[in-house]
Amino acid sequence: MPPIMTERRVRVRFAPSPTGALHIGGVRTALYNYLFAKKNGGDFLLRIEDTDQGRFVPGAEEYIIESLKWLGIIADEGIGFGDGPYAPYRQSERKPIYREYVMRLIDEGNAYYAFDTPEELDAMRERLKASNVDAKYDAITRSTMKNSITLAEDEVKRLLDSGAHYVIRLKLPRKEEVKLFDEIRGWVSVNTSQMDDKVLFKSDGMPTYHLANVVDDYLMKITHVIRGEEWLPSAPLHVLLYRYLGWEDVMPKFAHLPLLLKPEGNGKLSKRDGDRLGFPVFPIQWQDPTTNEISSGYREAGYLPEAVVNLLAFLGWNPGTSQEIFSMQQLVDAFTIDRVSKHGAKFDQNKAKWFNQQYVRHTSDNILAVELKKDVEKNGLTFSDAYIEKATSLIKEKISFVKELWSMGNYFFINPSQYDEAVITKRWNEKSPAVLNSLIENLSSLSEFTSANIEEQYNLALTKNEVAGKDFLQLLRVCLSGVAGGPPIFEMCELFGKENTILRLQNALNTIKK
Ligand code: GLU
Repeated sequence: MPPIMTERRVRVRFAPSPTGALHIGGVRTALYNYLFAKKNGGDFLLRIEDTDQGRFVPGAEEYIIESLKWLGIIADEGIGFGDGPYAPYRQSERKPIYREYVMRLIDEGNAYYAFDTPEELDAMRERLKASNVDAKYDAITRSTMKNSITLAEDEVKRLLDSGAHYVIRLKLPRKEEVKLFDEIRGWVSVNTSQMDDKVLFKSDGMPTYHLANVVDDYLMKITHVIRGEEWLPSAPLHVLLYRYLGWEDVMPKFAHLPLLLKPEGNGKLSKRDGDRLGFPVFPIQWQDPTTNEISSGYREAGYLPEAVVNLLAFLGWNPGTSQEIFSMQQLVDAFTIDRVSKHGAKFDQNKAKWFNQQYVRHTSDNILAVELKKDVEKNGLTFSDAYIEKATSLIKEKISFVKELWSMGNYFFINPSQYDEAVITKRWNEKSPAVLNSLIENLSSLSEFTSANIEEQYNLALTKNEVAGKDFLQLLRVCLSGVAGGPPIFEMCELFGKENTILRLQNALNTIKK
């Protein structure tokens, strides 16, 4: 009977190195992996690639986990999310595993020991540079260097026994076309003559990224490698490793995601762009443990996690429809790799704000009111929950961030003492005091203080003084709130109440003198 072909369960991983704060490009990689796993009923795991101890930064691992949790990108297995069947998920804890595989590569002639000192390597590079040749440790140069190919067997043994420093390098064929299919870019082909004999393992027992990554993806039964474009040049090397280790039949599919680009010009979006243009490039705030420098995060800047997920999903992917607002579940349902763009995605900070604004608007008044209430109380003020909630409903249409409920709407709680200069200069004239006085008089006799009734009295005051409403409305707003823009004026007055509205108008009359 022929063997029954079973579909492998989809398993993907996010494999960051804990070298500092996680850039939002990295978060997007995690998100796409998550969406792909969930869409296909598979598993998403978090693996920490900490083999480069020199670049290890304390706190970075915790930062990655906290960021993913804040955004709801929840791993099924892995560091910070509970171990699964392939633990440990931190590469520094898997050291013995890698040794076994690198030994197999050596035994089968696909890797070799190299004992060259840094000075010898530098000399080789200088020599090659001088003759205008690519300075690579490869099929040609290796024959001139100190390694287990050029040295006699007993010399190699003596060096190893004496504890000499060594690295193990992959032995690449001199000229061979390595082809791989990228799910986003199609066929990619590189000749080994363009590549170098990458270091796979060091004498301290630590593997390098390339070996550890491939071994772990194999052992953790990863079916799809979805990662940033910067890893595309390493992919042919990984293909060769799968081949030499005899794992080609279960080699994962590759998808290299496009870069996140600066808002203007070209090039990768960097922290410097964020600092310069005033937006975060990290999901949550990060304090560098050595310099103590603080980098702002989306969370602290007032972004809602659902908005960040939505905006990141759209940086490099689109659903093929005009719908832009997607919950995580809707993204899971809609996500496919074939809709990921090949081209870099330009970061657009206005669009980012727009996404947040949409999510703020869709958050219910009573939830937002809790945040506003905190600010009201922080300022030593007391207002009823009903008042705060109504103010919330009026301000929320005007804001992009929750914290703007207070910064842009504090006049609901504090009568203004200053008035927008530009509007006063433009709109205040000799008739203004008369209109305001008429309005105060009309409102004083009003028994039901509703927005419709207030508006009616306003119109009567205008007619009486022969003033056009259009010109006066903005001035009225400034007299009531101090600022030029805001929610519908008469609804605002209704919430202020009769007494307070009249008080505000009187204050304006007394303060604005021309
Ligand atoms: N450790 C690599 C990184 O920091 C992972 C690359 C990959 O996903 O293979 O991005």
